[in-house]
This record gives sequence, C-alpha cells and structure tokens, in this order.
Amino acid sequence: MNCRSCETELVEFFSLGQIPSLNLFLKKEEDFASEKKYNLSVGFCPKCFLVQIIDIISPEDLFRDYIYFSSVSKYFLEHCKENADYLAKKLNLDKESLVLEIASNDGSQLQCFKELGIPVLGVDPAKNIAKVANEKGIRTIDEFFSYPLAKKLKEEQNVQADLIFGANVLAHVPEIVGFVKGVKELLKPKGTAVFEFPYVQGLVENKFDIIYHEHVFYYSLIALIHLFKSVDLEIYDVKMTPMQGGSLMIFASHSGVLPIHENVKNLKAKEIESGFDKLETYQKMSESVLAIKHELVDLLKKLKREGKRVAAYSAPARGNILLLYFGIDGNYLDFIVDKSKAKQGLYTPGTHLLVYPPEKISEEKPDYLLILCWNLADEVMQMEELKNWRQNGGKFIIPIPEIKIV
Ligand SMILES: [Zn+2]
Repeated sequence: MNCRSCETELVEFFSLGQIPSLNLFLKKEEDFASEKKYNLSVGFCPKCFLVQIIDIISPEDLFRDYIYFSSVSKYFLEHCKENADYLAKKLNLDKESLVLEIASNDGSQLQCFKELGIPVLGVDPAKNIAKVANEKGIRTIDEFFSYPLAKKLKEEQNVQADLIFGANVLAHVPEIVGFVKGVKELLKPKGTAVFEFPYVQGLVENKFDIIYHEHVFYYSLIALIHLFKSVDLEIYDVKMTPMQGGSLMIFASHSGVLPIHENVKNLKAKEIESGFDKLETYQKMSESVLAIKHELVDLLKKLKREGKRVAAYSAPARGNILLLYFGIDGNYLDFIVDKSKAKQGLYTPGTHLLVYPPEKISEEKPDYLLILCWNLADEVMQMEELKNWRQNGGKFIIPIPEIKIV
C-alpha cells in the first residue's frame, strides 16, 4: 500500500489482527456468525512521515447509520462552546461571516456558532444524523465532503466560508488530497480552515485505542504541513486541546496570506526531537502496548480467580478496540454498560457483549469497573449514579496509558 498523501510505499509497524467495524453493534445473536472482519494494521510513510491504516473499509459501509451522537457527552458540549467562543474571537467572525462545518454530526458545534449570531452550514454523510440537525434548524447537507461536492457548492450556491471547521474528520477521510483540495475551493481568500484531530503523540504514548478502520490517519504536524502544501494551503498556527486524550488543532490559510506563528516552528522542532519522523519511534510503541495487554489480561485473570466481578464502563469505538486487541470478552467481563440509549440492548462488535444501561451497576454491584472511555475517566469517576457503588467499595480500573486501579 502506498501513502495516501505522497504515494510512497508504506512500512507496517503495528497489526491488531482481524477487526470488525466498531460502530456496527449487533442486534441479535444470529448476527454474530455473519459479522464481517477486516485486517487492521498501521503503516508509516518514510517520505512524508504520515502514519496511516494500511487497509480501509469503504466509508459507505461505515457511516451510513453511524450510532454516535455527539451531544451525548457533557464534556464534548462544553468543548463545542469553548471552540465557538475562541474561534469567533480569534477570526473576528460576525453576522456577515459563514462557518462551514465538515462532519457536523447532529449540529452541536454549529449550534454554538449560531447562538453567537454567525450563519452556519453543515455537511455530514450520516443521513439519520443530518436529519436530526436539520430538524434543529442547522442546515446540513447529507453528503460526503469531497472536491466535487465543494465545487458544486461553490458553483451552484456560491458557498464561500470565513471558517471551515472540522473536528475529528481529517483523520477519517481516505481521499485526503481531494478533501483538502475541496477545503481550498470553499475558503474565502482570507478565510481560515481549522481542524482538530487526535494527535499522533497519543499513539507514541501507548494510546493505541485511537487505531480503528474509520480512523485512517494519525497526524503529526510535519506530515500535515506536507499534505496542505500539496494543494497550496499553509498551516499558520497550532494549538493543543484535551479532546480524545490529546488532540491537535491546526489553522490553515491560502499559502502566503497570513504570517506563520512561532507555535508552528516550535512544534515542528519538538516533533523532530521526539522522533515523529522515524519508524523506530512507532515500532517502540507497538512493543509497549503489547506489554500493557499482557499486564491487563493477567490482572483480569487474577481477579477472576479471586471470584471478583468486573464490568466495563461504556462502549465507545476506542473501548471496543481495546477489548478486541487485548482479547477481553465475556470470559473476563460480567457485563458492559453504556449511557447511550442507541447502544443499549445491542451487542458490542467482535466481543459480543450485551450492552446494559448504567443502572445495571447499582443493581449488580460488580467489584471493579474497567473504564473503557479512560480519556473521560475523571468525568466517570465523579458521576452521581456511581457514588453509592463507590462508597460500598467499588473500584475503577483505568487501562491506558498505564494500568491504574483507583
Ligand atoms: Zn507519504
């Protein structure tokens, strides 16, 4: 497989085996046998340093009835509000501006811009979710963002944006060169494109559970500079954010339009120093994740032997990848809960655990809760619903970036 940004041949450094699509929860036991699985492995491009999945599943298979609704997490909604306030001020957006969000989901982020009086437009391919957004009054086009769609929007609707925003989308689009070409097409001459995505540093720090098929790219700044330059866009500022256990936000303009901030130069130097341009850095991560796998499985085996009961808290994509790669299923876990109603009553992909609502914890009183959304561990540990369970001796297991029992 060749690099999707620069077409150089990739070098594989991590393989997770055969993994099903993580958003396709199963409705009934009869579906288990026909569940499709796909090879999941990650490669490194020695020329432009872009880390990426080797084999992908077609986006049409993945996103049409996507279960994730972004407004579920309180933490996420707060982050949307902060983003809108911060970007409106930094980019001087007002009622004459247009904010275009790519992969706008149910409109949670755009709603925050709208409340500031700024006109908005969303694009999201999941028809059921785009419908929710449209019903809320956030105009949303239910298609995949691409260069042809961008051209069509420009020619037919004269769409030109002051801000093109995308959280968690840049990493998901296999046709990435066409995607950024589309961004360039719709950006006003002095407009800014802002993308936020899990930073590759997380991978290097053992946060391997961001690896799944939908997540094609694991960007470093050095790899992105190369990609944007190929369509004559330029990254002029960067900012770290706490999303997804460590994300990077980049600000791009048409080349040569805006002065390049010191932040860009500094982060670039830091990345070179950390070896983000070297294959060995990623190979080391792969070994250290394997060590965590053995440690966690040993811990769960020991608890089982002692007659302890362990449940898992929440079934996000990242949680499912952890269960699958570590081989943790019903042999180790008594049950799993998730507060998303859309997942309750369904079976987790690959591991086939029936998802219960969180109330199951106070009913069943397990001894341990394995927090699969470990990036939101603080939020989970402070939850009112778990207070009683906790006071009666319940303990949390946080698996990543190192195993902790609290
Ligand atoms: Zn490349």
